[in-house]
Amino acid sequence: MKKLLIVIGVLFGLTGLAMAKVAIVASSTDLASIAKEIGGDLAEVNSIAQGRSNLHYVEVLPSYMLKVSKADIYLKVGLGLDMWADAVIDGSRNGKLIVVDCSTGIETLERPSGRIDASMGDIHPQGNPHYWLDPANGVEIARNILTAITKADPENLTIYQVNFEAFCLKVENNLVKWRKEAESLKGLSVVSYHNTWPYLAKAFGFEVVGFIEPKPGIEPTASHTSQLIDLMKSKEVRVILREPYFSPRAPESIAKATGATVLVAPPSVGAVASATDYIALFDTLLSLLKATR
Ligand SMILES: [Zn+2]
Repeated sequence: MKKLLIVIGVLFGLTGLAMAKVAIVASSTDLASIAKEIGGDLAEVNSIAQGRSNLHYVEVLPSYMLKVSKADIYLKVGLGLDMWADAVIDGSRNGKLIVVDCSTGIETLERPSGRIDASMGDIHPQGNPHYWLDPANGVEIARNILTAITKADPENLTIYQVNFEAFCLKVENNLVKWRKEAESLKGLSVVSYHNTWPYLAKAFGFEVVGFIEPKPGIEPTASHTSQLIDLMKSKEVRVILREPYFSPRAPESIAKATGATVLVAPPSVGAVASATDYIALFDTLLSLLKATR
């Protein structure tokens, strides 16, 4: 009997040793934050871009490929936002990698109709790619991650499902709170640097009426800026949102000409200190916007 117990003990010890964590690499801190919720203690999650990075443009480094070469799962934003991720994935030469497009199943906004050409700037044919900025889409992202992680580690399926349910509940409970906070945003018009916020605006009932970029990915020009100033004056726009990775120069000069306030709005987890995870990102954004009312 004693012998048997020892054998069982050794076997348990061995499986414990052999149980490696699921290695997940995400393009963005937002996807990484949600992956941590689903993976819990059973996953090791890293992101390539940092919170303050401009996700459209990330320089591909060999160290990223090395990281992905040892990973089980790669999480892409998709919709043409993190096109650099393909170079990281290809360069990793990891044949076992499960690649997840986290935009799968998302109802995208601003899907362009008609012909698309280069004169339109950085146009995304499948719609605006900043979809994680609607908390409801966070649940869809989590669902995509759940599918992948249960494929990589089917033995712990139940734990991942419990984690997923807990995350959904957390989002749901916070949505009630955020929607209440957002009641004061009714009628709020803002201008933003880049077209980052349509999902946030739709979720919480404010309006983005113009952009400092003449077209997505195109630097501000004098003629566009003067038109924007006229528009802001006629619509009495008092708020400019600047993503932390854009220069404050154009927003500040437009603010000076219109009497508007510039808010540094974090589009990603870690873009400002208070946005420590996916939930805290919305806490930060809503308290920023609410303070303008
Ligand atoms: Zn964009």
